[in-house]
Amino acid sequence: MSIDVGILGGTGAVGQRFIQLFDGHPEFELAAITASDDSAGKSYREAAKWRIDSPIPDAVGDITVRATDPRDVPDDVDLLFSSLPSGIAAEVEPQFTEAGYVVSSNSSNARMADDVPLVIPEVNGDHLDLIEIQRDERGWDGALVKNPNCSTITMVPTLAALDRFGLNRVHVATLQAVSGAGYSGVTSMEIIDNVIPHIGGEESKMETESRKLLGTFDGSEIDHHDVDVSASCNRVPTLDGHLENVWAETAETLTPSDARDAFRDAPTLDLPSAPVPLIEVFEDDDRPQPRLDRTLGGGMQVAVGGVQDTPAGIQYNCLAHNTIRGAAGASLLNGELLVQEGWV
Ligand code: NAP
Repeated sequence: MSIDVGILGGTGAVGQRFIQLFDGHPEFELAAITASDDSAGKSYREAAKWRIDSPIPDAVGDITVRATDPRDVPDDVDLLFSSLPSGIAAEVEPQFTEAGYVVSSNSSNARMADDVPLVIPEVNGDHLDLIEIQRDERGWDGALVKNPNCSTITMVPTLAALDRFGLNRVHVATLQAVSGAGYSGVTSMEIIDNVIPHIGGEESKMETESRKLLGTFDGSEIDHHDVDVSASCNRVPTLDGHLENVWAETAETLTPSDARDAFRDAPTLDLPSAPVPLIEVFEDDDRPQPRLDRTLGGGMQVAVGGVQDTPAGIQYNCLAHNTIRGAAGASLLNGELLVQEGWV
């Protein structure tokens, strides 16, 4: 089975990751790429400043970039992946869903909307059923599904694994790679020999998105989890891979060994891009590390290590590749689940 897919904002940093991940994909055939009016009409090779460390796939370089407008995308494209700046996405994604397209989006707009599924397939795939309500309320033939922020995706699979012990409170401090800010997001003068102890809006995203992801869908709405999440987000001079120090307080007492077992038991899915296991557990205290561990499972695994007992709960370090598991790979996995569940 081959499904024609397209990318909205395919020339950017996340768009390039999509192109890398679609190359050789068993189900998806890349049929359309859109970008800004400056890029529309040019060949992809001409329009994109390619910054991925593998070449542009041959079949993609000659594709003509289209305008980001539903009238410019062929009707036989079944599924769209969006990596547009959030302001633009807020404007155009509804135009595509209204025109009947199913959109798996990485942009931050509408993630917290009551009728928009915010999904990590291994954690809350059942939230896709919100699409029925979304279609009823908005009169759309298509659908809009979001993946969370890259720092949230790194942590939430580990929290979901610990929730069997009753999550009460979570503290997290992040060490986030520069690629998370996009190519021109942080200048070299700002980040070399430095750490920036603030990332605008990131802390509140981690706090609110986590509760929605860990919530339960009762058939009509998402009941958000009542766990308290406090986040402190830092930009550090690594290229890719967000490392996070997490303290999780649970109702039931648990040992580091219980926590490691829970991480190892995290559910996995039968989807082309779903890693097995979902969480790679290191016994070592000095792992995971961004440079060594960000490409585990093709960049789709979450790595955990340094699990220990502290007065503030179980403490551990977790890591994921921010532009793969945290961005393009996250939307891709949501797209694979949308197909498996019959929404596409
Ligand atoms: P980016 O490199 O700036 O790419 C933006 C893309 O959107 C480009 O294809 C650009 O086309 C297109 N675009 C810009 N303005 C447009 C307009 N007016 N109309 C149509 N298309 C337009 O950004 P990015 O880093 O890939 O991030 C994309 C989205 O993913 C953002 O919402 C970001 O917050 C989110 N995100 C990023 C990361 C990450 O690690 N970078 C992680 C999670 C989420 P041109 O090339 O023609 O300008």
